Amino acid sequence: MVKLQKPAFAFMNGKLVPWDEATIHVGAPALIRGISVFEGIKGYWRHDESHLALVALRPHYDRLQRSAMLQHLPFSMSYQEFADACFTIVRKLLSQDRDLWIRPTLFALEGHWGIDTVTDLVITCYNQEKKAPDPISLGVSTWQRPIDTALPYRIKSAANYQMGRLARIEGRRQGFHDVIMLNQQGRVAEATGSCVLIVRDGAVLTPPSTEACLESITVNIIESICASHGIPFHRRPIDRTELRIADELALTGTLTEVAIVQHFEDREMPEARLLSHLRDEYFACARGLKENSLMPLTPV
Ligand code: PMP
Repeated sequence: MVKLQKPAFAFMNGKLVPWDEATIHVGAPALIRGISVFEGIKGYWRHDESHLALVALRPHYDRLQRSAMLQHLPFSMSYQEFADACFTIVRKLLSQDRDLWIRPTLFALEGHWGIDTVTDLVITCYNQEKKAPDPISLGVSTWQRPIDTALPYRIKSAANYQMGRLARIEGRRQGFHDVIMLNQQGRVAEATGSCVLIVRDGAVLTPPSTEACLESITVNIIESICASHGIPFHRRPIDRTELRIADELALTGTLTEVAIVQHFEDREMPEARLLSHLRDEYFACARGLKENSLMPLTPV
C-alpha cells in the first residue's frame, strides 16, 4: 500500500515550489467539478544502485495526452518538456536508499463548462521502500464500474476514482486490502487502482479494457514478459465465478506492481507459482537486470 507523504517540494507552474505553497484556487474547475487527469509513474534504482530510472515514461505521457484530449483539457507540453519536468522534481527529492513514484496531474485551473479552459501540469513525488509488494486479500465490491458512456474508464481522471474510493471503504470494512469492481454486465472489470490477472490451466487471463478497465501499461508489460517465456496470455471477458475457481490471482499496475492474492473472499488461494514468477521477472526488468521493449527505463 502506498502511504502518502508530505514531500518538501512539488512541481507547479513550470517550476519547483515548496509543498505548502503548491495550492489551487477554490474557484478552479479542478476543485468544483473534479476536472483533472493524471498518471502514476514509478522510479526504480538499478540493481547496481548506479542510477534511478523511470519506467515507461513515454507510454505514460501518451496516455496522459489521450486522457487530456478526451476530457477536453489543453495539454501542449512536448514529451521532452514533460520528461524534463519529471526529472526536475525527481532530482530534487531523490534518495539513494528509496525507490519513488510521481503523480503528474493536469488540473483545470480556469474555465466554465469547457470554455476557456486553462490547465497546469502539477507533479508530486513520493519516496517508497525498495521491496516487492506483500500478498493481499481481495473481495468483490457491490460498487460497479460505469460504462464508457457514463464515466469513461479510459480516461484516467480524478472523477473515475469516486467509485474506487467507495469500493475501497466497503472492502476495508470487510477486512480486504482491495476489491474487484464488476462491470455493468456483472463481469470482472478491475480493482480500485489496478488490473486483474488470473491463471487457469496454465494460461494468464485478463479482461480487455473494453470490459471497463483502464488501458493498463503494466498489463502490456506482463503480456510481453509472458510472450518472451512462452506463457499463454489471453485478454478475454472474465466471469465473476472464474475468480473463485482461478488457480492463481494477482493485481497488477504501476504502483501495485504484481501483488499476489493470498485470500480471495473466504478462500485461501493455492501457491501462485506462475504469477510469482512473472512478478520476479517484472522486477528484474524494472531494475535493469533484464530488458523488455515495453518497459523502457529512462535514467534520471
Ligand atoms: N486500473 C486503475 C483504476 C488504475 O488506477 C491503474 C493504475 N494506473 C490501473 C488499472 C493499472 O494501470 P497501469 O498499469 O497503467 O498503472
